[in-house]
Amino acid sequence: MGRFAPSPTGPLHLGSLYTALASYLDARRHNGLWLLRIDDLDTPRNADGASDAILRCLERFGLHWDGNVYFQIQHLEHYQQILATLQHQQWLYACRCSRKTLANTPIYPGYCREAGFVDDESSALRLKTQDRQIEFDDALQGFISQNLIREHGDFIVRRKDRIIAYQFAVVIDDYNQRINHVVRGADLLDSTAKQLYLQQLLGYPMPRYTHLPLIVDQQGNKLSKQTLAAPADDSHPESTMFLLLRLLRQNPPAELANAPAELQLQWAIAHWKPLALKKIRAIQPPIH
Ligand code: GLU
Repeated sequence: MGRFAPSPTGPLHLGSLYTALASYLDARRHNGLWLLRIDDLDTPRNADGASDAILRCLERFGLHWDGNVYFQIQHLEHYQQILATLQHQQWLYACRCSRKTLANTPIYPGYCREAGFVDDESSALRLKTQDRQIEFDDALQGFISQNLIREHGDFIVRRKDRIIAYQFAVVIDDYNQRINHVVRGADLLDSTAKQLYLQQLLGYPMPRYTHLPLIVDQQGNKLSKQTLAAPADDSHPESTMFLLLRLLRQNPPAELANAPAELQLQWAIAHWKPLALKKIRAIQPPIH
């Protein structure tokens, strides 16, 4: 079971479509379902109409998902319940550190761990981490081993503004949706150990992970809304699809270049070879 989990902060750009396509191909190649989740918990960043635009764009490319779209915002109560359980088990603590206090401390030093603050409107909730290695074998990026307390510190599971943190929600969603293979961008590689740690605490099985290279611009920056990446061109899905298959290093035959996107997809499912991307962290599209 695979999934694509875009944040509805704007239309899909080439980089997000690249991830969508790879996760789709991987799920279909394994005769699996491909689910769509809209990561809409960070409400201040959601853009009006973005979810609809994302769904329409996926359909234009023939990337049809299975079942209903899963909107995170409809599962708030469930996240809260699990937070309450972890709180009860003393895995969480209220943190009142300001952004300023933490400006030069990328690894949280545990300032509030023993402070015993009550969880009020000026506090975030952090999860206690431990001094042990969290390990996994990524299908493309290889063996990863991280010690959370030393490399990240206790991390936030619910923000000060009461918004449930991505790291926390994603673990619950992947479990709820029975995802057993996560295919996503390598920018999330560094988050994975946190997610595995949470899975372990909650007794959830670990999915398999494939972290794809990122599509970067000519300056080497990841395409994103912040870098003002253009929306993916869905006026000619066939040429965009062909470009994406080439960026996925799938070597599509030249005669497919002008074939309808759905036909290219059929070829790509039958020939899907993710290992062509092994150990690659970034890919630059050709300039026209
Ligand atoms: N919504 C996240 C993003 O767009 C993806 C989360 C995930 O695939 O785990 O970066």
